[in-house]
Amino acid sequence: MMDETKITLTEQEMPKAWYNILPDLPRPLDPPLNPATGQPIGPEALTPIFPMALIMQEVSQERWIEIPEPVRKVYTLWRPTPLIRARRLEQALDTPAKIYYKWEGGSPPGSHKPNTAVAQVFYNKEAGVKRLTTETGAGQWGSALAFACRLFGLESTVYMVRVSYEQKPYRRVLMESWGATVFPSPTDKTNAGRNILKADPNSPGSLGIAISEAIEDAATHDDTNYSLGSVLNHVLLHQTIVGLEAKAQFEKAGDYPDILVGCVGGGSNFSGFAFPFVQDKLKGERKDLRVIAAEPTACPTLTKGMYAYDFGDTAKTTPLLKMYTLGSDFIPAPIHAGGLRYHGDAPLLCFLHKEGVIEAVAYHQNPIFEAALTFARTEGILPAPETAHAIRTVIDEALKCKASGEQKVIAFNCSGHGHFDLGAYEAYLAGKLPDFEYPEAKIQESLARLPKV
Ligand SMILES: *Cc1c(COP(=O)(O)O)cnc(C)c1O
Repeated sequence: MMDETKITLTEQEMPKAWYNILPDLPRPLDPPLNPATGQPIGPEALTPIFPMALIMQEVSQERWIEIPEPVRKVYTLWRPTPLIRARRLEQALDTPAKIYYKWEGGSPPGSHKPNTAVAQVFYNKEAGVKRLTTETGAGQWGSALAFACRLFGLESTVYMVRVSYEQKPYRRVLMESWGATVFPSPTDKTNAGRNILKADPNSPGSLGIAISEAIEDAATHDDTNYSLGSVLNHVLLHQTIVGLEAKAQFEKAGDYPDILVGCVGGGSNFSGFAFPFVQDKLKGERKDLRVIAAEPTACPTLTKGMYAYDFGDTAKTTPLLKMYTLGSDFIPAPIHAGGLRYHGDAPLLCFLHKEGVIEAVAYHQNPIFEAALTFARTEGILPAPETAHAIRTVIDEALKCKASGEQKVIAFNCSGHGHFDLGAYEAYLAGKLPDFEYPEAKIQESLARLPKV
């Protein structure tokens, strides 16, 4: 047992229910608000774009929610995923720490995102929906949804941020290979898109704009719903399959983590990995467990944002969510970790950060690429630039252990591979990668425009 590199589970051992952290919170989460009235929104406000099953999961107080059999069946195409002991990285760092990672990059689209895409498409199909719309930045979420829609026979329409559409054609081709229709956003197909184009015909687009377009498309077509790849409670719920498997694998290994790490864009891979362990911390059984969220200095939501109600999109059409935010009109610098350029974060994760259960750190892109290459040259996997933020944190914590002589157990969610990000690696290897720190004054400007509630 002690010498195994991969700790694996059989398909029979794959968890049969997701873990819902809502009933275990020390106090209730602040509800989403209707921006017009300032009152909490009811489920009926969401029915034009989400199926009832997902709306109910969003507010469920059930601790365990059964994973439907057809979803489990699709999961087995790549799940359970291995928990891998990074012995070669440990040796290279000369650290007494034990490093483990959960490898989510082996899914067909290459990241953790299909864990929720498959579930969301299943519930929409059950509700009779024929087509799903969504937005995508770098293309990870769009490809996960295109993949899942194909497996369940639904159509998919993806609004892809225009700069990515032009700079990253291969993710688009991957989505189209699974049958998705992909538009560069802003488009002239929605009011939201047309309004942006009127002001700036050459708009490079943003995630916030693409969200507005995808929601409008879904809300104005009866057979069509919208699907979001992160942030919402039900998305984090579906991702807990990662942490539940990891927990079972740690039990097999006879170990338990001292430090958990994940990168944070909207918070889904981090939360899905960490929440099943956070449950133990909230119960007081693992008071010393440290849980660290890693984000870019170019989009420092948890480390520099404000905990306040804000819109989820640029056109200000979504309900108001209580979260750490940089302001919904915040446009981050074009760093390569496209999946981490969101102005807000999941309300659940933000709440736990506010309560002091979760810590946060921020990094520039050069040190994260340095960590990524250390990982690639020891463990062999070339990680997504998003994932590299977590790896930077892990290496820094392992080096602290070297200095102190402590044999801590450090585990992280290795959320995806970087095979579509070779342009970024090329720039880094050529020494041409700029570092961005979002100016404090700009953040304050954006925050001054937060909605008043
Ligand atoms: C999308 C993405 C992220 C960031 O999204 P979260 O919802 O914060 O997990 C991180 N890593 C990879 C590989 C991604 O594709």
